[in-house]
Amino acid sequence: SFPPEVVPQAPEDPLFGLMRAFRADASPDKVDLGIGAYRDDNAKPWVLPVVRKADEILRNDPEANHEYLPIAGLASLTSRASELLLGKSAQAISEKRVASVQTISGTGACHLGALFLARFYKTNGAGRTVYLSNPTWANHRQIFSNVGLPLATYPYFNKETRGLDFDGMKGTLADAPEGSIILLHACAHNPTGVDPTPEQWREIAAIMKAKKHFPFFDTAYQGFASGNLDRDASAIRLFVEEGFELVIAQSFAKNFGLYGQRAGCFHFVASPSSEAADITTRVASQLAILQRSEISNPPIYGARIASIVLNDDALFAEWQENLRTMSGRIIAMRKALRSKLEELGTPGQWNHITDQIGMFSFTGLNETQVLKIRSDAHVYMTKNGRISMAGLNTKNVGYVAKAIDKVVR
Ligand code: PMP
Repeated sequence: SFPPEVVPQAPEDPLFGLMRAFRADASPDKVDLGIGAYRDDNAKPWVLPVVRKADEILRNDPEANHEYLPIAGLASLTSRASELLLGKSAQAISEKRVASVQTISGTGACHLGALFLARFYKTNGAGRTVYLSNPTWANHRQIFSNVGLPLATYPYFNKETRGLDFDGMKGTLADAPEGSIILLHACAHNPTGVDPTPEQWREIAAIMKAKKHFPFFDTAYQGFASGNLDRDASAIRLFVEEGFELVIAQSFAKNFGLYGQRAGCFHFVASPSSEAADITTRVASQLAILQRSEISNPPIYGARIASIVLNDDALFAEWQENLRTMSGRIIAMRKALRSKLEELGTPGQWNHITDQIGMFSFTGLNETQVLKIRSDAHVYMTKNGRISMAGLNTKNVGYVAKAIDKVVR
């Protein structure tokens, strides 16, 4: 049996615990700024109009069935997915240096990548530490430690400026053992909303190249950060063009609003060389074995929806429009929250609200203030002071600003 010394009670996942507390709150004023899922101006989940169309096409397809996908997933999705990241005319693709596998959304992609590296990267033990940004998406730590890879962190967030701690980040990357695995958020960093500038990315790439570090990109918000798919992939493209061998975990949860469908991909990109295509084929063969033992083959429905959109020019254009609707509403809410706080004369600086990008903002509220705003105003956010901008709307932003104002005074 399983005594408590062996199987202690684990704490509830903090984010899902927060969701539960929110649901149980009977106040009509309650505001959910916890979960990272897009909401419309009525605080309701939004099925992207283009996803509704693709769903309609899929349901009317007489050939559609519920058979298994291949182990590597739906090829019409994975190939378009790699183009979305690297660009349609990327050399890495034409030189067959990219191996792509459909996964259980971004989490599954991170896991498959972690598992692959745990099995095959520097098996002699030296320099296989995974460096995570401090802070990072809470699940990264569990995903990488579950497969037994050693973890470390690099500084990322400067509490004073509420921006990037660039010197701290560079220093740690320069000091890390050669060939370390560096986890990088491609855009719209979760939880801080702080991304390096294009110039800073170039410096990061230069340090990582000098140290032969291995980039592990996590991209869960492409198109969501700036509203532009290419711009949000620019850090990844820079590293690929610089010739890095790297991996990418790609989620379609947020940018397609396909959260529960678990659509995503994992990509391996080899450096340009005469062996690159051969390396890629061997890596793909091992990814297939790992995938088979974990999930056999990935889920079909959400993958088909994303594939229908990505393979049709008109639907693709409509998707970009939908992305602009989501990112545009979020940017408008950033402006509204900042200006309301400034109107109220709330103590402190609030420019970081509009400087930060993507779904989240690190408000700078401390844990005491977070708990107080929850109990006094029924405004729910994670303990680190992160708010999901998508939880704000034209009806509640004034209320939230007043609640923030009250707890920081
Ligand atoms: N990485 C980051 C940084 C994320 O924020 C998320 C979503 N919260 C994911 C990966 C993966 O999410 P999913 O498994 O739903 O695609």
